Amino acid sequence: MGAKDEMKYKPGYDVIVAGGGPAGIMAALAAARTGASVLLFERNGFLGGAATNSVLGPISPFMFGDEQVINGIPQEFVDELMKVHGSTGHMKALDPYGSGAYLGFYDREKYKYVAEEMLLKAGVDIFFHTLLRDLKMEDGSVKGVVLHTKSGAYSFGCKVLVDATGDGDAAVMAGEEYVYGNADTGKAQPGSAMFEMVDVDTDKVYDYIFENPDDFEWKSDIVPVRPYSGRLKQHYFVAQGFKSLVKKAVAAGDLNFGRDSVIVLNGIHPGSIHFNATRVSGYNSTDAVEKSYSEIDGRRQIESVSEFMIKYVPGFEKSYVSVTSNEVGVRETRHIKGLYTLTQEDAGEGRKFDDVVSRGYFPMDVHNPDGVTGYTEGGHNGGCWFDLKDTYDIPFRCLIPARIKGLVLSGRCISGTSVAHGSYRTQGGIMGIGQASGVIAGLAAVSGTEPRDLDVKKVQETLIGYGASVFRDEEKKAREEAHARESVREYMKGRTKYITKKEIIDGFMK
Ligand SMILES: Cc1cc2nc3c(=O)[nH]c(=O)nc-3n(C[C@H](O)[C@H](O)[C@H](O)COP(=O)(O)OP(=O)(O)OC[C@H]3O[C@@H](n4cnc5c(N)ncnc54)[C@H](O)[C@@H]3O)c2cc1C
Repeated sequence: MGAKDEMKYKPGYDVIVAGGGPAGIMAALAAARTGASVLLFERNGFLGGAATNSVLGPISPFMFGDEQVINGIPQEFVDELMKVHGSTGHMKALDPYGSGAYLGFYDREKYKYVAEEMLLKAGVDIFFHTLLRDLKMEDGSVKGVVLHTKSGAYSFGCKVLVDATGDGDAAVMAGEEYVYGNADTGKAQPGSAMFEMVDVDTDKVYDYIFENPDDFEWKSDIVPVRPYSGRLKQHYFVAQGFKSLVKKAVAAGDLNFGRDSVIVLNGIHPGSIHFNATRVSGYNSTDAVEKSYSEIDGRRQIESVSEFMIKYVPGFEKSYVSVTSNEVGVRETRHIKGLYTLTQEDAGEGRKFDDVVSRGYFPMDVHNPDGVTGYTEGGHNGGCWFDLKDTYDIPFRCLIPARIKGLVLSGRCISGTSVAHGSYRTQGGIMGIGQASGVIAGLAAVSGTEPRDLDVKKVQETLIGYGASVFRDEEKKAREEAHARESVREYMKGRTKYITKKEIIDGFMK
């Protein structure tokens, strides 16, 4: 049976999801589970958003310390990926500074496939190669979408639209207010042109890091806490630095990119290294002209960094670039105004809200919008890395636009400040938000209720029914912490070498 037999587009749906990134995928799956009919439309010919289109490395999953904070449909997705050899699952970064507590490596091609199959199985119709062109509005409420396609315009009616476009395109088209980037500076985080190199002697790279610890800002071994496919690597690491080599290459005119150090992460497959290393600064990605310029800047940086790696870094002598981002990865653009705006203090202090629908766990990671350096202490106008005191709650109100009805916000465009967004913007946080937005949209559409008028308790109960960790479970947390510690001990016993700081390793082995 071909896809032609599996889908027949209808004139109208209960829920339409705009955008098929991590947020849109989760939103569509969750909305379908509430019993809503769902259409997801996507500008590209595949799912995954930045996760696939911009050639991302790992999912930063789903944990605060060792407590799994994001659960339910996002975890089902990771489980499905693992079944087809497409993910390592959640792995513990022994030194969380710079990379977060856990990393989950994934195969981007499997990601596209698994997401698509899960959506089709859930009965979601998918319309690829479609760009939002217009909205049907009545009395400040969204009633449908008009999509631009190669064969003209297509219109669909809907009861609720979920804006999972990342940039908040639907909300802006509907006339909702927003803030671009940081409200104080008017600047957004830089983008990165991502790429991967293969045929790398990764043992040699590891040895270089091991032998030159002072050349690195941070570095960590990454340890499995659950078995995964034997087809994948069984040891992963991450490091940011090569500072002396970078300095030498810049002085020799051999390297030109927006940073003063290079971050290397393992790619998921043997012999591959992933680069989240370039910095494409000063472009507003919601502006078509600037976006176009940014691609040229990004590709020049990829050429420069990859040639630097081959010429200067041991282990890369015979390597080459196997894939580059289709689109410069966009970290931040618009924050749509909602009923509540999540702040840096809310996230940093680990604040809880009665109307919680998802939780945040990742440090506030803001890349410097206009400098080459990494994180600066304290300041949020440069880059920053702030640890959280505890997990914080994402309130229902951050997903509800301030004025526009029939619309639910999802993914990175929800209502939050630039620095708070620096935390919830990673894939786990975004998937949790996506799941919540789908439940809100589905329950509203099926019951004929305006999203903002929903009973939040019912939203929370539904999310918990789908396995989401809406509230902390102390016993589960204690079990997860004990399991992680034991996994690290076992794993490290079998290793003769490590690049993680000795005091961190000693802490685990006590
Ligand atoms: C450079 C970079 C590095 C990152 N590194 C990590 C990392 O290591 N770990 C991690 O967990 N996270 C990382 N992230 C964060 C993560 O990738 C994003 O936060 C996440 O992809 C956001 O999901 P989203 O669904 O909200 O938006 P997106 O991923 O941007 O998805 C939006 C989707 O909507 C579609 N779309 C947009 N506009 C329209 C329109 N008008 N009509 C139709 N379709 C439209 C797009 O094509 C896209 O598929 C990184 C992000 C970037 C940019």
